[in-house]
Amino acid sequence: MKITKKSAEKRLLKTISDYIRLRDNYTCYTCGKIDSNPRKMNAGHLFSRRHKAIKYDERNIHCQCVYCNKYLAGNLHEYIRRFKSEFGDEEYERLYKIKDDKTDCTIDDFIRLTNYYKDKIDQQRSNKHHGK
Ligand SMILES: [Zn+2]
Repeated sequence: MKITKKSAEKRLLKTISDYIRLRDNYTCYTCGKIDSNPRKMNAGHLFSRRHKAIKYDERNIHCQCVYCNKYLAGNLHEYIRRFKSEFGDEEYERLYKIKDDKTDCTIDDFIRLTNYYKDKIDQQRSNKHHGK
């Protein structure tokens, strides 16, 4: 099968989503609900996916239940409050500043990032296996 830019990006987003949910222990960032069913938990963006520069940035993405992510449109008030208390106002400002930077992702970038997140999934699995 030929890899297109679209299919490469789709694969990357799926890999990121798997990684984020695993990293966050399938726990909703904004309401605390836990569910390992991938259909009930999403990878929710702090700054929405239309901000291309941080669309694939793990710092901008957390596990969210479908209710918070879809019905509450990200439950952003709580998302921002929690994010700032965990990472600080500076980190929030930093993402805010770079979110609209110009980006030009190629297929190679998507593949490279997919492999980066696949490695992180392996690391997470092995850490969790060893009880870290
Ligand atoms: Zn939730």
